[in-house]
Amino acid sequence: MSLKQWVNLTREAVHVEDGITSDARLDYVLAKVKMKKKDPALIKLRAVPEGGDNAEYSDAEKKRNVHFKLVPFPPEITSESEVELKQKFFLPAVGGNKYKIEAKYKDKVVSTSKAIETIRRLYFQVISMKGVAVPGSLSDVSDEFEKYFMELKEKEDGRDTMDLIKTVHQDNTGDFKDSARTSYKAGKYWPYAIACVFSNMIADYADNENDDHVDVEIPSMIDNLGENSIEVTVDLKDEFGDDAYLWTGLDDDHDLLDKFWLVSAAFTREGETTSQVIRRSDVNISGAASHGTGGFSQVKVTLNEILLGDLLETTKGNLVIKTRVVDGFSGGFSSGDSNFTTVAVKSWWDGDHSDDENIQTLIHELGHKIGLSSTGDRPPPPAGNFAFINSKTPDAPPNLYGEYYEGPDENNKGHQGPHCEDGMTAYDAAKDEWTGTPGCAMFGGSPTLDAATGTYKETPNIFCSDCGLSVRKMDLNGFHIDDLKKEF
Ligand SMILES: [Zn+2]
Ligand SMILES: [Zn+2]
Repeated sequence: MSLKQWVNLTREAVHVEDGITSDARLDYVLAKVKMKKKDPALIKLRAVPEGGDNAEYSDAEKKRNVHFKLVPFPPEITSESEVELKQKFFLPAVGGNKYKIEAKYKDKVVSTSKAIETIRRLYFQVISMKGVAVPGSLSDVSDEFEKYFMELKEKEDGRDTMDLIKTVHQDNTGDFKDSARTSYKAGKYWPYAIACVFSNMIADYADNENDDHVDVEIPSMIDNLGENSIEVTVDLKDEFGDDAYLWTGLDDDHDLLDKFWLVSAAFTREGETTSQVIRRSDVNISGAASHGTGGFSQVKVTLNEILLGDLLETTKGNLVIKTRVVDGFSGGFSSGDSNFTTVAVKSWWDGDHSDDENIQTLIHELGHKIGLSSTGDRPPPPAGNFAFINSKTPDAPPNLYGEYYEGPDENNKGHQGPHCEDGMTAYDAAKDEWTGTPGCAMFGGSPTLDAATGTYKETPNIFCSDCGLSVRKMDLNGFHIDDLKKEF
């Protein structure tokens, strides 16, 4: 039987609950020895590892973060009728390690009968938009972290309290957080609490250009008498040659505007350098929705011969269509600068994620929040790259990628932030496609298609053993984690 010590929590009354019975179980271990008529200078206390299951930090890790070390404070001695020696021991940040305190006087060594076992605790609050279903049980989330001696306690409750935002995107992220903040009540646990917001959809839009309609012919007005226009159908493709989907049906305010999805359309006559603008009313959505209530990837362009053509000759030219399309749906994100995470329960207009997928996303985003995937020993990135390197985290797992991005040595592989490609065999940058079977919740790519079975291999809702060890060794003192110190 061992005594648990929540080594990441400071000694404050707010943490004394849910199985923590006294503030003596928080932060440092205070060892006390009382002796009669002894010379206190001869008493030596020390904390020694107990058993064979302790996780070890490398020397490099201990050098980078002092909290990876066991730090004894100088002893305090009071001498009245008997001598009392008190000494604080700050145990390492790791969870699941056992220690005993030994007192040595001359040649005699006395040891505590119970071992002290390190554990850590963080809190989270669920907030959800009205009508967005949160999985009935989130115990799979806390169980996964608890495997690595990190407790996650749910506090307060903001389910069903926020107004629905159909899609969180680049223009409304600030409003989204402002709205979520009004439901956040876990501030008393600062800096140990994380906000987990269940949102509807998360996507961004981006400009897309299709210029593959060259040598389009507009018949002369004489030839085309009575018709006075021709129609051209344009299939929208993205930079990878895949279907691009118009930004419609995702934001009601955008849908009320005059064709928010259309940036411009232009026709350039053969041999000319200036183009002629095609009227917005002459560009319209065509084809069927490919994803339930949305997913249009075709437009029909009317080329009006009176505006664009010639009376007697056939006019030839190139058509360029610029649209706003979906840049991608996201399952969630973890703000890089605050205690905020969000999970989207839908994508592709009406595609509901399963509870398992939502749980996987939440584990992934909480993993980011505490510092996964570890990047502690990674060198600065090549010049011109933005880095996500945190030297206070343990050594990187062997399958780390994405710790920097942008520039010539881009390694983000389609996803921002440090991730783990355990189980993956290849990434094709030209197609933004992975092969392999993800073996870790910290994988950052889209599900991969199994060619043999035609089914998608989903990212698991467990950590690989390397990332699990990082969770165990992570310094979870909220005062040492920038994201947790800054409430959203
Ligand atoms: Zn991620
Ligand atoms: Zn991993």
